[in-house]
Amino acid sequence: MRILVADHPLVAHKLTALRDQRTDSPTFRRLADELVTLLAYEATRDVRTTQVDIVTPVAHATGTRLARPRPLVVPVLRAGLGMLDGMCRLLPSAEVGFLGLVRDEETLVATTYATRLPDSLAGRQVYVLDPMLATGGTLAVAIALLLERGADQVTAICLLAAPEGIAFLEKQFADSAVPVAVVTAAIDERLNDQGYIVPGLGDAGDRLYGTVGAGG
Ligand code: URA
Repeated sequence: MRILVADHPLVAHKLTALRDQRTDSPTFRRLADELVTLLAYEATRDVRTTQVDIVTPVAHATGTRLARPRPLVVPVLRAGLGMLDGMCRLLPSAEVGFLGLVRDEETLVATTYATRLPDSLAGRQVYVLDPMLATGGTLAVAIALLLERGADQVTAICLLAAPEGIAFLEKQFADSAVPVAVVTAAIDERLNDQGYIVPGLGDAGDRLYGTVGAGG
């Protein structure tokens, strides 16, 4: 599994402001949006393209266009929605699917409660949006579902990751014939007893949307 930590001063600057507990929801949403666009730039480095011939006002030229089928962007509900606009700004022609996952607080197993995806993802490059890669349980279920539907490549874009979550995904997808990647702004120290990333930024869903509703 490929792990890419976006090493850029603007990423570090925006992430620091996101972490700060004094940052209010409107500012948090704007910063998350900007940060996702920067991460998306890194995550789409190998997005498939095709060569095209065009005519400029001056001469004929050979250029590049995104290939078909279009990339698919899949935010994991609820907190992944806060990353969708930033992603689509960079990839406006992408198709968008949705995945709702809920974690049983006793068994900690994530199950799907909503799926809006094409039946077949054959030949598709898929970008999954989930702000916090904590234990990795939710993202592992999401990625497995996308692979089952035939995705050609799956890249998870996360604002922050914990070493435990990275290790879990590495184990789960070690034998995957399909490339799986994680792109993140930082890998933090650890998870605490409540499953929060330390130092982290708190509950991403709550910080994006306020405290209405449960869970990320
Ligand atoms: N989900 C969050 O929103 N925050 C964490 O720190 C871990 C999981």
